[in-house]
Amino acid sequence: MKKEDELKELKRFIDNTNFFDMHSHMAGFELGTPVDDKRPRTLYSILMNDYLAYLSGSCLDRQLVPSRKQAIDGKCSFNDIEPLLRVCRGLTTYYAIREGIRLLHPFKEDDICFQNWKEIDKSIQMAYRKYGERKWQRIACKKLKVLKQVHIATLPYVTTHLDSLPEKEKKSQMELLVLSLVLDGYAFTGFEIQHRAREMSFDIIRKYPRNLQDYLSFCNDVLDVFKKSGGKSVKLLISYFRTLRIENVDEKRAQHLFSIGFDVLSKSALLVLQDFLLKQLLIMANDKGLPLIVHTGYSIPTENGDPENLICLLQDNSLKELKIAISHSGWPNEGKAMIMARTFRNCYFDISWTPLLSQTLGRRILSEALDMVPVNKILVGTDCGTAECFAGTVLLLKNVLYDVLAEKVTKKEFNLETAKSIAKSILWDNPIEFHNLGKRSNYGIRNKEKSRS
Ligand SMILES: [Zn+2]
Repeated sequence: MKKEDELKELKRFIDNTNFFDMHSHMAGFELGTPVDDKRPRTLYSILMNDYLAYLSGSCLDRQLVPSRKQAIDGKCSFNDIEPLLRVCRGLTTYYAIREGIRLLHPFKEDDICFQNWKEIDKSIQMAYRKYGERKWQRIACKKLKVLKQVHIATLPYVTTHLDSLPEKEKKSQMELLVLSLVLDGYAFTGFEIQHRAREMSFDIIRKYPRNLQDYLSFCNDVLDVFKKSGGKSVKLLISYFRTLRIENVDEKRAQHLFSIGFDVLSKSALLVLQDFLLKQLLIMANDKGLPLIVHTGYSIPTENGDPENLICLLQDNSLKELKIAISHSGWPNEGKAMIMARTFRNCYFDISWTPLLSQTLGRRILSEALDMVPVNKILVGTDCGTAECFAGTVLLLKNVLYDVLAEKVTKKEFNLETAKSIAKSILWDNPIEFHNLGKRSNYGIRNKEKSRS
């Protein structure tokens, strides 16, 4: 085959390969969407759903952002958001959202502008009104060949929310979603919503523990109910709040700290109690065959999310079988994350979100990872909050994967067949294997479920 035709074939193959998205929030974030999800969405609300909202809230002048009231009243015009776009147009994130909007609500101009604002806005409003948010997302998934998607969830999500849906819709959601339970709240850390999810869990489990022993039994029930409801993995986001380094803590000490109450402990004492609870939660998850996805890298200070903090977990005898995905490549410590993925049998290098943060970074990191990490250890996901951002991110990820593989094929580092098998491995086989959803391949990791029966 001519080189040119080979690359065309590679592009066609990547575009047509089913994708198992390792990371998403779009199916209703932590608690899920209301049963009637045909609430109006506007172009403004899609643009401001996640990353641009985050930036404008943290590092940009607030005057650049139209007021919430203006937005909610639907009285937001292109001119209102133009000052914000002016400073964000160069971002990969904006590029991805814009191309996702283009795919789902086609427009011809180079960019979203004064001329096309109203038409795109109308198309978005119609889509959400006609299909509702969940169905619109499923339509986007089908269009982009995303057949499975990890959704970062809470216990109320997998019970109260999913049970509230009509039977048929619940089935459709469950066919797509691969649910991951955030553990943070159960160890008294994490975002406010995770603390709320813990409080709601007491009512769901119908246990109101007063001592550490009872609390651990409550946590065990949470994981059992989560798994029974279709849950497939657990997630830690703790590095937004504390270090990922989890020390060994004596049970007596933990009992004492628990009896004082987490809300009155000093910061350092709370850290000790958290260490104990996190370790116990992970032992329980491991016993139930639930792998762990960890938010690493992006945190302030970044040393909190340094993937090297996870070495103690990976070397812990009581967690020997626990699979750990180092999410977001551990960036800015991606080198450490790669050393770990090529050292520890059950450690995975997960580039979810990295190419969306920066295409250039995504290309470099994926290229290096392919050079030095066995391909069965590499995972990838989108990490978006709307169908539009998600759609643009899938296009972006597949383009990054193509660019990197095409370069290596062109330089004869490997041939087309190898490039195709790498693409298939990253997009589909690896997440199946990570979640124990399919046949185990012969990588030497013992299948717990099987060895027990
Ligand atoms: Zn995320």
